[in-house]
Amino acid sequence: MNADTALDCARIRADFSILSQEVNGRALVYLDNAATTQMPEFVLDAIVAHYHADNANVHRGIHTLSERSTAKLEAAREAVRRFLNAASADEIVFTSGTTASVNMVARAWEARLAPGSCVIVTALEHHANFVPWQQACARSGAEFFVCPLAGTGDVDLGALEARLAKGGVSMVCVAHVSNVLGCVVPVDVVARLAHAHGAAVLVDAAQSVRHERVDVREIDCDFLCFSGHKVLGPTGIGVLYGKKELLGRMEPAWYGGEMVAQVATALTTFEEPPLRFEPGTPNYVGAIGLAAALEYLEGLGRDAVAAREADLVAYAEERLRGVAGVQVVGAPARRAGCVSFTVEGAQPFDVAMLMDKLGVAVRSGSQCAQPLLDETLGISKVVRVSPAFYNTHAEIDACIEALERVVPLVS
Ligand code: PLP
Repeated sequence: MNADTALDCARIRADFSILSQEVNGRALVYLDNAATTQMPEFVLDAIVAHYHADNANVHRGIHTLSERSTAKLEAAREAVRRFLNAASADEIVFTSGTTASVNMVARAWEARLAPGSCVIVTALEHHANFVPWQQACARSGAEFFVCPLAGTGDVDLGALEARLAKGGVSMVCVAHVSNVLGCVVPVDVVARLAHAHGAAVLVDAAQSVRHERVDVREIDCDFLCFSGHKVLGPTGIGVLYGKKELLGRMEPAWYGGEMVAQVATALTTFEEPPLRFEPGTPNYVGAIGLAAALEYLEGLGRDAVAAREADLVAYAEERLRGVAGVQVVGAPARRAGCVSFTVEGAQPFDVAMLMDKLGVAVRSGSQCAQPLLDETLGISKVVRVSPAFYNTHAEIDACIEALERVVPLVS
């Protein structure tokens, strides 16, 4: 079956009105989904409906609207639990995004770090899963070990195991899918290796939740983070999954209302997780929007979405490899979500800017992965194409046509 019809492409595109517009006089081709996905009407409607009918602050009112709002927030938590196959909704903390989730764990984990201990990250991490650990190590005196990549752009599992075997590793932090190379990291294998050496594992699933089946019990990770806006949800909402026992022993990163059990001048005691980690008014409307996004995705079928995105990204890679002057970055064993490339003699910024003039939205720059680009790949900046299931083969063709027009202008 043609991959464009397997998911009823026309019907899906009708759900995303933002896609039906012209940019610079051309039909928009939105291929920047690794940065942010678009929201279907179903999600927008859920958000607007909440403000129209049910809005009130959560967990603190006895009145009807507050109870409705609270029930919807907790239903959203349960929806995320189901989506990740977590054992309990108490393991789901709402945050403002992946960045906040990682920072929350890194801040708390710092108390366990000291000279002689070690945190491992990989060379392909987004700054969000690199800098918080680097800083925690710098403050605590722990070693900050960056696991290198093998030649293809995949994480070098041999190097990871060798560092683990030397001892002292407290935490391994790894992206499930790279936002530059698109490689899928075998995070279940990483977790097995880490656990065998007494280390915990945090998975950055920002780039994987949309196109990979993310099952926290199958992976057996200790923490996992993702952002709503990369999975058809709104911005400003994210998730931290943590094993109950670990969250239970974690100090909160922020303090305030609702996360406390009892406050007195002499002593304050805290709620159990997840509320312990959600001080103040949470972004409950964001959580409700995220739950709607997950419902929409599950309605389409997660396997069908994953297959469609795998097909589109493979097609994009094949077409890009055929453009003279274009070099695709990395050749991972398994790719998901994006393909990055450079154009001989050209600045990625110029390529992306000129493609925008032709209606094609792609990302250019260091993709918040400077250690990967500068230190491992030595190319500093790339252009990135990242399709979502609502894109079509015709749009990939339009992107390639635009690129073929742009390359002679910039190189
Ligand atoms: N991790 C990865 C792999 C990402 O691609 C991103 C965003 O691009 C992040 C973390 C940060 O996500 P957010 O900006 O939503 O916190």
